[in-house]
Amino acid sequence: MSSTISLGADNRAALRRLAETLALPHLQPGWVWLAGAGPGDPGLASLHTLHAIAEADIILIDALVNNAILTLARPDARIIDAGKRGGRPSPSQESISRRLISYARRGLRVLRLKGGDPFVFGRGGEEALALVRANVPFRIVPGVTAGIGGLAYAGIPVTHRDTNQAVTFITGSGASGAAPDLDWVGIAKGSPTIVLYMARKHAGAIAAKLIEAGRPGDEPAAIISNASLEGQTTMVTRLAALGEAAAMADAPAIIVIGENVRLAAGLDWLGALSGRLLDADPLGRSRLSDAG
Ligand code: SAH
Repeated sequence: MSSTISLGADNRAALRRLAETLALPHLQPGWVWLAGAGPGDPGLASLHTLHAIAEADIILIDALVNNAILTLARPDARIIDAGKRGGRPSPSQESISRRLISYARRGLRVLRLKGGDPFVFGRGGEEALALVRANVPFRIVPGVTAGIGGLAYAGIPVTHRDTNQAVTFITGSGASGAAPDLDWVGIAKGSPTIVLYMARKHAGAIAAKLIEAGRPGDEPAAIISNASLEGQTTMVTRLAALGEAAAMADAPAIIVIGENVRLAAGLDWLGALSGRLLDADPLGRSRLSDAG
């Protein structure tokens, strides 16, 4: 136990030195930082986030934050679980905002830690606006979002010149938990690549809308579960079979629909670490030009 504590103290001292060298700001008493922890791999958390974990008096975490980075917290820091776990209802958004405000007013250094990026389907904007209304000073620390970093861990570039020069990010469940009510024809036409967050449940319904709006049923799609974490898996499927595949996928899962999914055959660097052979021409460009 004591060696764990001294190791923690060493790590915090190291972070402090790094922060000083780079002239990074401190999480000051009375402030709230809303920070992203990235999709899971602790190495994807930013230095601002790690520094804030080491400095905070109180840390309010979401369900998707990897606990490994919390070993950097001070032994006397309070860590509050503010996310859904084991089917228990999560604290209401309002009560989280109220707590952030009251801790800050007590002069504590408050860290609100969220999975991925706090401003991407993470309600960071709502919490920050509550701080603005209460006149509590705050800072936003962006994080690597699952819809970009999670794809990268599966070897799928979120954009690629030969497949998609645009991308759309969609939440698969709206505020009420229902499938989102969007202009599916516009999305189907305008965005070659579509990335779906929180979409395991409604993936089939969304795929059906996209097909109805003109997307081919055999278009590639991938479901990446536990991206950047131990046990990451990628299922590659077709748009028409997306619902069935999503029903079998573990949570959390990020879904990507589009031709860029094919690039994983060449760019699955993580798979290559365990022996997957990479195809240097995953889109078959040279085969095309040979033929032409
Ligand atoms: N703010 C977060 C998103 C929160 S919504 C971000 O920027 O990433 C939660 C959804 O994010 C999950 O339902 C899932 O779709 C996605 N997600 C988060 N972490 C993930 C991970 N490690 N692997 C796959 N999907 C993930």
